[in-house]
Amino acid sequence: MASQALHLMNSFYAPSILSRLLATTASLFQARQAHAHIIKTGLSTQTHFSTRLISLYANHQCFADAELVLGSIPEPDVFPLSTLIYACTKLNRFGLALGFLSRMLSRGVLPDAQVLPSVFKACAGLSDLRAGRPIHGIATVTGHTSDSYVQSSLVHMYVKCNGLADARKVVELMPDSDVVSWSALVAGYARQGCVSEAKEVFDEMASLGIEPNSVSWNGMIAGFNQSGRHSDSISTFQQMHSQGFKPDGTSISSVLPAVGDLDILIVGIQVHGYVIKQGIGSDKCVVSALIDMYGKCACSAEMSQVFDEMEQLDVGACNALVAGLSRNALGDTALRVFREFMGKGIDLNVVSWTSVIACCSQNGKPMEALDLFREMQVAGVEPNSVTIPSLLPACGNISALMHGKAAHGFIIRREIPVDVYVGSALIDMYAKCGRIQASRLCFDGLRTRNLVCWNAIMSGYAMHGKAKEAMEIFHMMQRSGQEPDSISFTCILSSCSQSGLTEVGQNYFNSMFEEHGIEPKVEHYACMVTLLGRAGKTVEACNIIKKMPCEPDACVWGALLSVSRIHNNLHLGEMAARKLFELEPGNPGNYILLSNIYAYKRKWNEVDKLRDVMKEKGLSKNPGCSWIEVKNKVHMFLAGDRSHPHMSLINEKLVQFTMEMKKSSCFPNTDFLLHDVEEEDKEQILCGHSEKLAVVFGVLNTRPGSPLQVIKNLRICGDCHTVIKFISHLERREIFVRDTNRFHHIKDGACSCGDYW
Ligand code: ZN
Ligand code: ZN
Repeated sequence: MASQALHLMNSFYAPSILSRLLATTASLFQARQAHAHIIKTGLSTQTHFSTRLISLYANHQCFADAELVLGSIPEPDVFPLSTLIYACTKLNRFGLALGFLSRMLSRGVLPDAQVLPSVFKACAGLSDLRAGRPIHGIATVTGHTSDSYVQSSLVHMYVKCNGLADARKVVELMPDSDVVSWSALVAGYARQGCVSEAKEVFDEMASLGIEPNSVSWNGMIAGFNQSGRHSDSISTFQQMHSQGFKPDGTSISSVLPAVGDLDILIVGIQVHGYVIKQGIGSDKCVVSALIDMYGKCACSAEMSQVFDEMEQLDVGACNALVAGLSRNALGDTALRVFREFMGKGIDLNVVSWTSVIACCSQNGKPMEALDLFREMQVAGVEPNSVTIPSLLPACGNISALMHGKAAHGFIIRREIPVDVYVGSALIDMYAKCGRIQASRLCFDGLRTRNLVCWNAIMSGYAMHGKAKEAMEIFHMMQRSGQEPDSISFTCILSSCSQSGLTEVGQNYFNSMFEEHGIEPKVEHYACMVTLLGRAGKTVEACNIIKKMPCEPDACVWGALLSVSRIHNNLHLGEMAARKLFELEPGNPGNYILLSNIYAYKRKWNEVDKLRDVMKEKGLSKNPGCSWIEVKNKVHMFLAGDRSHPHMSLINEKLVQFTMEMKKSSCFPNTDFLLHDVEEEDKEQILCGHSEKLAVVFGVLNTRPGSPLQVIKNLRICGDCHTVIKFISHLERREIFVRDTNRFHHIKDGACSCGDYW
C-alpha cells in the first residue's frame, strides 16, 4: 500500500521536478528544493536527474553540493563527471576540472570527444603541459583526435603552453584545418619572437589554399610586438597593407606600440593619417594607442590634441594620457588632468590609479603618491600587483617606512606573487628606509632573481656603506651564473669609495673591461675620482680624468669638486668649478661648494664675488628639505621655514641641545657656511637646517629611546652631522639620516660613515 502511494507520488512529482531541473535559469534555491524531493522520493538512483542536478550546482559554483550528489551515484559513467569538468572549465576553475578528470580516470572511465576540449582548455589555462601531453596520448589511443573540436582545443593548448612544435604537428595533421588554428599557430610563433617560423607557417597556410584573414595578420603584428620584435611588427603591418588587406582597428592598435617604442614618429604620423582616411578614429583602442604612441615619441602637443578631439571620454584614453604626460616629465599636468577626470565622474579603474601613482613616484612627488594610494582605496578600487611596485619607490624616496611596510603587508595578505619586479621594489624600499636587514630577507626569499634584484641589494649595501656585504653579493651573483652589468659596477665602486677601500676599488675598476668586457662609463670614472680623491690621491684622481676615452661630464668634475672640498684643495677646486660653471651654469650647488672652500681659507673677497655672480644669474641655494615619518604621517621641513606649527617647541629644544653641547665643550662647527657673518648669526642660521629640525621634531614626538629616521634632499652638512651625533648620545637613540650620497647610521655619538662622506 505504502509503495503504491510512493509510486503514485513519483509519477505525480517527477515531471515537475524534471521541468524545474531542466530550466537553465533554475536558482540555487530551486536546485536545493529539487534535490530534497529527489532524495525523499528515492529518485536519486536515476542518473539523469543526478547529472542535471550536478550541472546546476556546478553552475552556481556549489562544488561541495555537486560532489554530494556525485557520491550518491553508485557507478557514475562519463556523463556526471563530464558535466562537472565542463562547468569547472567554464568558470575558470581549471585545477578543479583536472581533479575531476583524474577521478574519472581512476574509475576506469575514459574522457570522450565531448569533454576533451574542456580538459585541454583547463591544461591551457594552467599552462600545464605535463598534464596535457598524457591526455593527448589517451585521446590518440581512443581515436578522439579525429574530432575537429578536440583538434582545435589541442592546438590552442600547445600554443598557450609554448609547445609550438607540437601545435604545428597537430595543425599539419588536421584533415580540414581552418584559418583559426593556423592563425593561432602564427601568432604563437610571433609571440615567441620566432620571426622565420611565423612567416614559414604563414606561407604554408597560404600554400594549402587557406586564405589568411585579418586575424592571421593581426596575430602576427601583435605577437612580434609582444616579443620585442618591434621592427618586424611594423614591417608585417606594411606588408599586410601592400598585399591588399585593409588594416583594421586591431591592426592599428597592435602596431602603434611598436612605432612608439622605436620612436619612429614619421611612421606614427602615416598611421594616424590612415586612421583619419579610413574613418576609424572613433575606435577607442585606436585613440588610446595613438595617445600612447605620441607620448612615447615625446610629442605632448599632438598627444593632447588626439585626446581633445576624442568624441567620447574613454577611460583607456585617459590612462594613456596620464602615462604619456608622466613619461614626458609633465608630472604636474598629469596630476591635474587626473583630478579633472575624477571631477568629471569618469569610472577610473585600477590602471588609472596605478599610472597616476607611478607618475608621482617617478616625478618627485612622493607625498602625492602616498595620498593617491589612500584615496584609491577610499574610492573602492583594489590595488593590484602593478600598483604596489609603483608605490614602493615613493615610500623609499621619503623613507616612509610605515607606509612601505603597510604595502608589503598588503602583498602578503592578498597573496600577490613576489616576482622579480615586486621583489626588487621591496629590496630597494627597505634599503632606502634604513632597514638593510629587511632588504636582505626579501632578497633571500626570492625564488627567482634577475639582474635588477642583484643590483638592488648591492646598491642597498652601497648606500649603507657596507662594502664587505656588497662584494659578497657581487661574487654570489657571479657564482649563480649571473653576469654583472655596468650598474653592478657602479654599486661596487661606490661602496668601495664609501669605505675607503682604494686598492680594492681600483682592482674592480680594472676588471670591468679586462674580465667582463664592460667599457667603463662616465659614472664609473666619477666613482674612481671620488675613491682616489677621498684617499688623498688627488694626483691620481686628476690623471684618471686626463686618461678618460670620452669627454668628462659634470658628474666627473662634480666628484672632483667634492673631494677638493673635503681636503679644502683650492687649486683643484677652482679647476673643477671652472669646468662646471661652463657645463651646468644653472646649478647653484657648484658655486656653494667652491665658496665653502674660499670661506675655509678665509678668502672673503672671493666669497663675495661668487655671491654676486650667483645674484646676477638669479641663482639661489637649493632649499634644503628633510622628511621624517612620525606616527604614520610624513612631515616635511624646509631650511629656514618657520611655518611648522611645532616650530617654537622645536627651537626651544634646539637651544637646549646647543647649551648642553657647549657645556660638554663640543661647540657647533661653523666651517660650513657660505657667508662671512658674525659667530652668533651663524649659529642662528645653522639652527635652521632642515635635517636638524626634523630630528628635533622626532625627539619631541616619539617614545624616548625609539629610533628616528630622516632623509635630506641635499648632502648633510658637517654641523648638523655633529649636532645629530650629540643628540644620539644624549637621548640614547639610533638616528638614521639618508642624504643624497649615503646613509648615516648614528648611534652613541658616532656615525657609521666614520665622519668620512
Ligand atoms: Zn646643517
Ligand atoms: Zn655620518
